[in-house]
Amino acid sequence: MNIESSKPLREFNSFGFDISAEYFVSVHNTNELAEALEWSKKKNISVLILGGGSNTVLTRNVDGLVIHIAIDGYNELPVADENYANLNVGAGVNWHQLVIKTLSKKLFGLENLAMIPGSAGAAPIQNIGAYGSEIKEVITSVEVLDKTTSELSVINNSDCAFGYRHSIFKTNAGSNYVVTAINLKLCRLDNPRIEYQALRDVLNQQGIENPTSQQVFNSVSEIRRTKLPDPTQLGNAGSFFKNPVIDRHQLDTLKQTYYKLPHFEQPDGTFKLPAAWLIEQAGWKGHRAGPVGVHSKQALVLVNHGGGNGQQIAILAEQVRNDIQQKFGIALEREPVIY
Ligand SMILES: Cc1cc2nc3c(=O)[nH]c(=O)nc-3n(C[C@H](O)[C@H](O)[C@H](O)COP(=O)(O)OP(=O)(O)OC[C@H]3O[C@@H](n4cnc5c(N)ncnc54)[C@H](O)[C@@H]3O)c2cc1C
Repeated sequence: MNIESSKPLREFNSFGFDISAEYFVSVHNTNELAEALEWSKKKNISVLILGGGSNTVLTRNVDGLVIHIAIDGYNELPVADENYANLNVGAGVNWHQLVIKTLSKKLFGLENLAMIPGSAGAAPIQNIGAYGSEIKEVITSVEVLDKTTSELSVINNSDCAFGYRHSIFKTNAGSNYVVTAINLKLCRLDNPRIEYQALRDVLNQQGIENPTSQQVFNSVSEIRRTKLPDPTQLGNAGSFFKNPVIDRHQLDTLKQTYYKLPHFEQPDGTFKLPAAWLIEQAGWKGHRAGPVGVHSKQALVLVNHGGGNGQQIAILAEQVRNDIQQKFGIALEREPVIY
């Protein structure tokens, strides 16, 4: 275990902020993780767990120890049903590389989640989702280490409290866990999900009616390349706000003023609104506040044009949030973690 001090974190946060950690260590297995936690306890310093840093806004230099989860591993486990495969994946595995690898092995179910940056271990934290799929549909359990006791345990899917960009790991009840591995159940039958309209539109344009999972992967990747800024070129953390959910009464009231308001009915009778539409309507798309701003092509993405910092992003996010509250009476919820 190699603990470094005054470690630059530029390559460990997708906004590309020039900040540093007082102490930093990459851990490659659960023993190293337990050792690093023990070390922090002896020094009486705080701990920040980081995967790829693509859903974290670092607003200041980090006091204490950053533990970068670099636990590798990809194992297919024996399974009774020949139509499925069970996989055990280390928390430090790069998510997109995992999607590519499973497809190459003809294991299906992750194709709609292509090109989401970050680590496999962070995927259950906010129940990553895109293009009609969420990780909760294929995750069977999450392996964790308790930060206080260093005990290992396994949390079954039904106990993860998965919701829209939410899980137990974002609550007090789960905040003490470090994810060390995830267990997935993938399908050997090539039967991808294509309910998501934007995905269907792209497939239709290509004349593909019954796509393979590889074709879905290709289409999702293509949409994402055109719609979202590449964090290696323009620092960002993807969607900055969740899509708000409102009831019918609120929808009817809003539609009196905004008759074009797009809305998607949910199974429970509520309505999901595209936060990007609200932000764009409020005039924020392309807005610049010095080195940071709202992306010119996708209003849901806040960006660092270069030389910006996390505090500037946090202030801009708050300004957008307040404005949306004032104009639409809707409280936008942040997606990334502000530290
Ligand atoms: C361009 C872009 C596009 C994106 N698109 C999507 C999208 O389509 N859908 C989506 O859901 N998200 C999206 N995201 C957000 C982000 O990629 C995901 O949330 C991803 O899962 C974060 O992984 P990470 O390893 O970078 O997490 P980090 O930013 O390192 O960590 C995020 C949070 O999880 C905690 N954490 C990380 N690893 C662990 C662990 N092993 N155990 C316990 N806690 C941990 C951290 O402490 C932090 O609180 C996008 C981001 C970008 C930059």
